[in-house]
Amino acid sequence: MHDYLKGLNDRQREAVLTTEGPLMIVAGAGSGKTKVLTTRIAHLMAQGVDAFNILALTFTNKAAAEMKERIGHILGNRESRNLYIGTFHSVFARIMRAEAHRIGYPNAFTIYDTDDAKSVVKAVTNELNLDVQHYKPNAVYNRISSAKNSLVGPKEYMTDYYLQQEDMRANRPMIGHIYDAYSKRCFKNGAMDFDDLLFKMYELLKHFPEVLHKYQHKFKYILIDEYQDTNPAQYEIIKLLGAVHENVCVVGDDAQSIYSFRGATIQNILQFQKDYDEVKVIKLEQNYRSTQNILSIANEIIKNNKGQIPKTLFTENATGEKIKLVRTMTDNDEGKFVADAIQEQKLRYHHNNKDVAILYRTNAQSRSFEESLRRMNIPYTIYGGISFYQRKEIKDYIAYLRIIVNPKDEEALKRIINYPVRGIGKTSVDRAILAANENNISMWQVLENAQMFGFKAGTLTAIEEFVLMIRSFHSMLPTKNAYDIAFHVGKQTAFVKELFNDKSTEGVQRYENVQELLNSIKEFTETPMSEESGEVGDKSLAGYLQQITLLTDADQKDPDADTVKLMTIHAAKGLEFPVVFVGGLEEGLFPNAMSINTREELEEERRLFYVSVTRAKGTLYLSYANTRYKFGNLQQNDPSRFIDEIPMEFIDKSFAGGGVKNHSGQGMMGSAFERMQRGFGSAKTEPKEKTFVSTLLSGNNKPKEVAHVPSPNFVPSDITKLEQGMRVE
Ligand code: ATP
Ligand code: MG
Repeated sequence: MHDYLKGLNDRQREAVLTTEGPLMIVAGAGSGKTKVLTTRIAHLMAQGVDAFNILALTFTNKAAAEMKERIGHILGNRESRNLYIGTFHSVFARIMRAEAHRIGYPNAFTIYDTDDAKSVVKAVTNELNLDVQHYKPNAVYNRISSAKNSLVGPKEYMTDYYLQQEDMRANRPMIGHIYDAYSKRCFKNGAMDFDDLLFKMYELLKHFPEVLHKYQHKFKYILIDEYQDTNPAQYEIIKLLGAVHENVCVVGDDAQSIYSFRGATIQNILQFQKDYDEVKVIKLEQNYRSTQNILSIANEIIKNNKGQIPKTLFTENATGEKIKLVRTMTDNDEGKFVADAIQEQKLRYHHNNKDVAILYRTNAQSRSFEESLRRMNIPYTIYGGISFYQRKEIKDYIAYLRIIVNPKDEEALKRIINYPVRGIGKTSVDRAILAANENNISMWQVLENAQMFGFKAGTLTAIEEFVLMIRSFHSMLPTKNAYDIAFHVGKQTAFVKELFNDKSTEGVQRYENVQELLNSIKEFTETPMSEESGEVGDKSLAGYLQQITLLTDADQKDPDADTVKLMTIHAAKGLEFPVVFVGGLEEGLFPNAMSINTREELEEERRLFYVSVTRAKGTLYLSYANTRYKFGNLQQNDPSRFIDEIPMEFIDKSFAGGGVKNHSGQGMMGSAFERMQRGFGSAKTEPKEKTFVSTLLSGNNKPKEVAHVPSPNFVPSDITKLEQGMRVE
């Protein structure tokens, strides 16, 4: 037997060895799903399957990189670098680089991040003479995003009765028109937003049989992790790609489906079994991650959901510690408590910083934790803060690089056309944009032919100089790599010099950031490339830009750094830590007030709780605060109903009752302990309905009672929710 098979249990091994035909692994948290997926790829390659014929889709690019490394380690060679492995977005962007011209885009298309996209939405909303206060770009962008993720194009959107009704109810009947104008503008700019990478990929495969044929034959084996969080667009694309070989292996846990607000649907799990004649379903039941206590709590929590595939999950790990439940007076006290407890974990149990994660429902909660950690000199990394690539100086620099690759990129052009100041003022820029729209050409084309558009003499000269400069950069593309061009741009444009001359603290920081950017570009050009030329492995500027645009937040952080990790529960998917704190277990916050209007929403909140608890290997703290500032007001909160769902026997009473003081100087006697006294652990669970999948999973063919499953309604959350700026991840 190969060494890599030896450490697996029988079911895991079966999943690895079942290489042919559709395979679905539905299993609970920590049961080795990701491990199986990785081992399965290694096994395929050990059996002689060419890495180029394997497509694997993961939750982050970092997860993909780790998989590649592990597979390389198992096989003892460097073949794994030839795998098509990454997030849906990065893999499809890679394919689009080769195929986009077929649907009228330049192959060197720009990828708009959400900031760019919202800026375009705002621009076209204004052009349609609609009020951007009423049609808030953020909300409209979210509606467009949902539509694309459900494969609804602008035309269908404008004729879809259901969507019309939705928009009318929200008193925004023109969203479809904005969507239409937005799509046309992106197309004109040679740009795709994140959702287009799925939506256009689907259109490409649907309308170009030769392309479909090519990739269907290329990807003989397709593997997908975190399948429960795929959306309809991803689902349809995989269905198309997998239709010839039918070697599609999906791995997921319906209890961890937490992205329905982005259009993900558990229907994809149910539907998978109907799409192929013979789907093999494998259950993994042994959890290797957590102690028995943690696993029991997780099982108790998820039992309260009706729409869940029943699963048994056991562990041979030790019983472990009971969980520690903590009430504090305020959110700041909560932060202080957590920092103290981390210090204790380090001193008494010899944990490192990196063994600890603090998880929360919303990004705003990080503040009180950060303050306390900083005060105690505990190093931490926060996920979901302002990313390096969002900084102004970095965005400016990158805008230059984007324009070089794709001169039609109007968003980038607007950013740097007069930065540093070169005498092309706002009036001239507006004139150029107007001329572009009126003549249906790109803004760049207007600049190239500036003498035809009535600019003043001084401006005209400035524009001509600008065009010459960008053209000279552009001419380097065929022969120079990303770093050489970026370096040259830095030298030639005055803006880096401007940053250098600014000796204020911020100025120095900005200059250092730009240096850091150049370092990272150098690193990019020096990493070994894929053996397949002309694809993402290439060191071109276009390749670089694609890579950085598609970095998820998690990709930008080093998981091995010895720091405490702070992140939302959404971002913690798939990860594990020896010590986990889950903060803010309060009604209104978790479950979130925005998500308790329907059973589906509440059950998704509960799944989030399940995900958070199952990140812990050995030690789990749950905390909640009596009062918390929200939108500048002090709010009084009840403890989360989810706390009531944890049976008392799993809670460390000595901890809650005595040892720990809250930070307002009071003992904990009157709080969590009191709640326990009145029996909050006696959560009743209602009998479970059988689901379609459960029948299949248990291998019998009793009549299928289809239970309650979330509706396939693709609109993830209502527009008011989005408008209130509720960021849930
Ligand atoms: P999640 O649902 O959170 O994504 P998962 O099902 O993907 O979890 P993994 O992350 O693959 O689970 O595995 C959880 C932990 O258990 C990892 O540390 C993994 O190395 C370990 N593990 C999995 N299978 C085995 C095994 N057969 N023997 C020992 N350890 C295992
Ligand atoms: Mg996993």
